[in-house]
Amino acid sequence: MHAPGDVRVEERDDPRIIDPTDAVIRLTATCICGSDLWPYRGIEPVDHAPMGHEYVGVVEEIGSEVRTIAVGDFVVGSFVISDNTCEICRSGFQSQCVHAQFVSQVVGTQAERARIPYADGTLVATPGQPDPELVPSLLAASDVLGTGWFAAVAAEAGPGKTVAVVGDGAVGLMAVLAARQLGAERVIAMSRHPDRQELARHYGATDIVEERGDKGVSRIKELTGGLGAHSVVEAVGTQESFMQAVGATRGGGHLGYVGVNHGVSIPGDELFFAGIHTLGGPAPVRRFLPDLIRLIWDRTIDPGRVFDLSLPLDQAAEGYRAMDERRAVKVLLTL
Ligand SMILES: [Zn+2]
Repeated sequence: MHAPGDVRVEERDDPRIIDPTDAVIRLTATCICGSDLWPYRGIEPVDHAPMGHEYVGVVEEIGSEVRTIAVGDFVVGSFVISDNTCEICRSGFQSQCVHAQFVSQVVGTQAERARIPYADGTLVATPGQPDPELVPSLLAASDVLGTGWFAAVAAEAGPGKTVAVVGDGAVGLMAVLAARQLGAERVIAMSRHPDRQELARHYGATDIVEERGDKGVSRIKELTGGLGAHSVVEAVGTQESFMQAVGATRGGGHLGYVGVNHGVSIPGDELFFAGIHTLGGPAPVRRFLPDLIRLIWDRTIDPGRVFDLSLPLDQAAEGYRAMDERRAVKVLLTL
């Protein structure tokens, strides 16, 4: 991305092994993330940056200290590099690893090949070479599914719970899927787009709320006997969506927030008097990858349906336009 709104596909140097814990992969597919739209729209600074942090592919080369990943393996990786051995990783928060680096900042996986640092701690090999139809779902696990899953876990979605999801982008839709898989009794998707409502229902939403802001909060309260939802997922990251999520959470309930915050300022008194549990931030996708890969491999879940436009990598600029103009929920880039 040369500048906001200016995406070009150009030649970069081939990645190579630098550290003995690296792997080089040839990507099978990659994609454009909702968070890539922040620099595209000029809300985050960008200057000739390689883009992309979601990836699946085949390992071409490994460093001398890589143990669990072999050349030829098909791998799915997290959007945050982690060693998966430090004390923070072992507690399940690989996105806060002492060696954490964002793939978007140090790699850029909207590319044919990529160097992945800490390959053992970042990548997970699939049980074999996947059928082509599974590739979009495995790619979704790299970020949007893993992030939606973390949000649902952070919100303590589970049996007997009513879960409300603020945001109908790919992560919100994946949180709906996760909430259902985790056994939630009722899942309320907040969406005003008919095509996204339909996808939310496919993934297990039982109710749709179209209202936003205070009206959205009132509607959630109406649907929950005046109490608010047990579990709320925030998957947008704006002031309005965040306060909508706080307001929709019942006293003593849980809010999981994974929308990358931009200009959000939470009034201390509102948070104080809400009396809720909150947990969020960049998702530790690596924690969930082995389970998510198994659910996809067994065809229990089909997160790949969240990709509603597929383009060759050299048409990446059109993919960004389609997502920016909301013509596409999520764009898969083929290689
Ligand atoms: Zn670590």
